[in-house]
Amino acid sequence: MAILAIDYGGTRIKFGLIGKGGTIIAVDHAAATPDSTIEQNLETIHHKVLASFGNLLPRHPLSGIGIALPSIIDTTTNKVISRYVKYTSAVEFDFSAWAEKTWGLPLTMENDARAALIGEWQYGAGKGYDDIVLLTLGTGVGSAVLSEGKLFKGKHLLAGSLTGHTSINVHGEPCNCGFYGCLEKEASTWSLPDMIKSHAHLAASSLSKIEKPEYIHVFEAAEKGDSLATALLEKSLKAWATAVVNLVHAYDPELIIIGGGIMRQQQHILPYIRKTVDRYAWLPPGTARIVAAQQMDYAGLLGMEYLSQNKTRP
Ligand SMILES: [Zn+2]
Repeated sequence: MAILAIDYGGTRIKFGLIGKGGTIIAVDHAAATPDSTIEQNLETIHHKVLASFGNLLPRHPLSGIGIALPSIIDTTTNKVISRYVKYTSAVEFDFSAWAEKTWGLPLTMENDARAALIGEWQYGAGKGYDDIVLLTLGTGVGSAVLSEGKLFKGKHLLAGSLTGHTSINVHGEPCNCGFYGCLEKEASTWSLPDMIKSHAHLAASSLSKIEKPEYIHVFEAAEKGDSLATALLEKSLKAWATAVVNLVHAYDPELIIIGGGIMRQQQHILPYIRKTVDRYAWLPPGTARIVAAQQMDYAGLLGMEYLSQNKTRP
């Protein structure tokens, strides 16, 4: 039996047919459309699943649906409870009823970063560890914490999830959440265009000509000596590394897994973060292992497979 796993990201919605034990049978993706309702979104995914791998379903019958969303989720009721969400209509939506009506199957839900952490823990870089912090650097910044083999959630389900909206700069600009100096505001892909536009060296930089800048452009321009890109990269690396030191101090993990699209440049990011943690964390150097995600693209789908197949939740 397989699980239909759906992972809502900032720019893409990934979906896949995942077999027991994390076997990826088929995967595909659709563009995220955060301005449409979650119901319209799910309907689009439903059609795309049937078109992409409907022919595989007779051989791999589904036993459940797993949905990961970039929101705070009450997993006992499958309700989205965060006030600030990308898909605003998700707060009122009855996901379990949708899964029953559309697929006739039970539904499992989880926050996207927590799902990715479970995916890495069971099938990726986190195998064999029970105290893990996951950080994803992408459109936004996601995070999740596994403590003694259990997802760390806190009284109101927020714990470990909001590193992206943890302030690292008390003099920082207002974030899209209303707080100031959030990690996401200081260093993430959604914040990048504003950071470039407001920079004093804009006119002289090759980044001024790029319509939708991403971090890959910043890394490339910095390598060519572009002063805006170099300054921006130094600021971003310091922001991410500061966040990791803060996470080490908050959760004291054995392992920190860093994923997300920006980590395609991991050869530049990991050494900087390791050096900063070795210098500032209250641990002997190298004690907290810092590694790249192994399931860079599909950790969320794999995590939803594990959570759907295992009745006892971590
Ligand atoms: Zn914020």
